[in-house]
Amino acid sequence: MIDTDLLIVGSGFAGLWAAIAARDAGIDRVLLVDKAAIALSSQSKMSAGATIYCLDGDDADMWLRDVAEAQGYLCHQDMVADMLATSERRLRCLESWGVTYQRVPLMRRYMRLPSRGFKHVRMLVRPQWGKRVGGAAVIGALKAQVTRRRVQKRSRLLVTGLLTGGGRVAGAVGIDRSSGAVEVIRARAVLLAAGDCSFRGNYIATDHATGDAFRLAYDAGARLSNMEFLAVNTGSPSYGFEGTGVILRRGGRLLNAQGKPFLADYDPDADAAEIGALVQSMAREVRRGHGPPFYLDLRRTNRRRLSFMLSRAASLPRITLEKLAAAGVDIFRTPQEWVPAVQSLRGGVRTDIDGRSDVPGLFAAGLAQAFDPGLFNGWSSMRAMWAGERVGRAAAAFVREAGPVSLDAEQVEACTRAALTPLARPQGPEPDEVIEALQRALFPFEVCILKSADRLRSALETIEHLAVTAAALHASDPHELAKAHETANMVRTAELFLRASLARTESRGDHCREDYPDRDDRHWLRWITLRRGERGAAEVATEPVPLSNYALHPAGDPVP
Ligand SMILES: Cc1cc2nc3c(=O)[nH]c(=O)nc-3n(C[C@H](O)[C@H](O)[C@H](O)COP(=O)(O)OP(=O)(O)OC[C@H]3O[C@@H](n4cnc5c(N)ncnc54)[C@H](O)[C@@H]3O)c2cc1C
Repeated sequence: MIDTDLLIVGSGFAGLWAAIAARDAGIDRVLLVDKAAIALSSQSKMSAGATIYCLDGDDADMWLRDVAEAQGYLCHQDMVADMLATSERRLRCLESWGVTYQRVPLMRRYMRLPSRGFKHVRMLVRPQWGKRVGGAAVIGALKAQVTRRRVQKRSRLLVTGLLTGGGRVAGAVGIDRSSGAVEVIRARAVLLAAGDCSFRGNYIATDHATGDAFRLAYDAGARLSNMEFLAVNTGSPSYGFEGTGVILRRGGRLLNAQGKPFLADYDPDADAAEIGALVQSMAREVRRGHGPPFYLDLRRTNRRRLSFMLSRAASLPRITLEKLAAAGVDIFRTPQEWVPAVQSLRGGVRTDIDGRSDVPGLFAAGLAQAFDPGLFNGWSSMRAMWAGERVGRAAAAFVREAGPVSLDAEQVEACTRAALTPLARPQGPEPDEVIEALQRALFPFEVCILKSADRLRSALETIEHLAVTAAALHASDPHELAKAHETANMVRTAELFLRASLARTESRGDHCREDYPDRDDRHWLRWITLRRGERGAAEVATEPVPLSNYALHPAGDPVP
């Protein structure tokens, strides 16, 4: 058994910042675990690293309004305000650790790009640390700080269950993905920084996002919220291409199967509309028989300028453009096939501003935490780093105040058995079959992009059947064992997404109900929460957004 003070699950931006903050707050024993290689397999590492920072001289109140409007007033304004107020401090920290962001050539000021979906908010781009560029640079710098602070690290440990006792969290159980051995960890507090869920869809670099944190917290009795908001982005089906946010604002266009631009038919902002609006328009165009395929057309763009912008905005496009050119593909001359790509379920563990969940001692940070429903350029990184720092400190305070924990032997035994059950079964369905069936049920555009009660109900019925299959999965080796757990997590997450989508009878942001097409502020300035009920069934409830405590209200609308 491993004994620690604070167990941090996940080593992306949120987990690494949390480890640094907890050590700096004086906690000796901090254990950072990841189901893949520490720091190297996270979305954070694969990201472009564009990050919103509110700097001295920026109008923080205006930025807060920008965010509240873009998030349909469902964000936690207290959290956003704190995030903006403290972002410059985190920037200075990163700089003191050797990270630089792109500067305007020949001038000393930062290059600051608009962030798609916001009017005023600006982001810094192209972080660099030594030879590393993008999210990998920030991750490299953070990992070096974690190592310097002697945080204990453990790679390839998939956490499969949380242990509780005496009304609080008491540790976790995990599987070593190489050996298949079970590890029991006793911890005074557990911080989930294990990311979100992309259902193993076709968005690049999101394979580890299998909803693990959601299921761990849910099974331990914590509430989840915002589970109805699924961010579907767009991308190439043939190669990993990031940077649509930049391209479509600078002359790039989406074309339908007939080679015609179509977005202006649906949205006054046309190609500059938010990503969610773009994919909803693509789905409507499918209904009219005008697609698929769809294409990204860069023929009217300024090639030199856009290539330069892309190389500054991110690391992935630069690498991809070079490789594509070498392979004889000129994306500026030939329109490229373009598809919707499921990126990120924006829900998560319902917490307070310090990341405390409903279960004492259980914290959540980053994309594991419910915070706001929308996905915007530079926003997720800022949010993950803010939460990591703040929640890491709060978890450290809890550890200092809370006494030691003891483990319940029976619970440990049951959790260990549950972790290994798929391996012990002589036969049963394989995880891959279930993942494919889940994607068939969830990914049709009429389920995940344009929703309606009947289609959501029918998908839910399929997912409920799949949940039974997922509970009987067979695994033949440690690799398949890990996949069996991830599959069950995705099935549970899909169920909660569909239940929450059914409950929200309005349209707002990425949640588009064709049977309730309007935004309904009178009834729906509320969060939907889900909790595991007494007999295991999900309990759906709503909670008003506390607008009377917040600075900003939707213009002219009554506050419920
Ligand atoms: C290609 C790409 C480009 C992006 N570009 C940008 C950008 O430019 N700007 C921006 O703001 N955002 C961007 N994002 C989004 C951003 O990277 C993420 O929102 C952010 O990094 C999330 O950080 P996190 O720490 O919450 O989660 P992650 O970085 O996803 O880390 C979660 C970690 O938890 C581990 N884990 C999960 N489950 C378990 C378990 N059961 N046991 C143990 N470990 C577990 C995972 O292996 C992973 O390492 C991009 C995302 C992608 C995929």
